[in-house]
Amino acid sequence: MTVAALAAEWICTRCGSTNRKLVPADSGTVTDRCVTCRARHVITPDARPVRWDAVLEG
Ligand SMILES: [Zn+2]
Repeated sequence: MTVAALAAEWICTRCGSTNRKLVPADSGTVTDRCVTCRARHVITPDARPVRWDAVLEG
């Protein structure tokens, strides 16, 4: 069984690090944490499928 997935790439708004999260292809908004500074972000798909928009959560 194969579940379509894509790598959502987003830029941390706190430290500027590039993060990647594997998400289901039909994902809407998801949350992830920066691997560098551990700030939680809400990431949403952009028009381009690879680069997502990120905003600090909370
Ligand atoms: Zn960060």
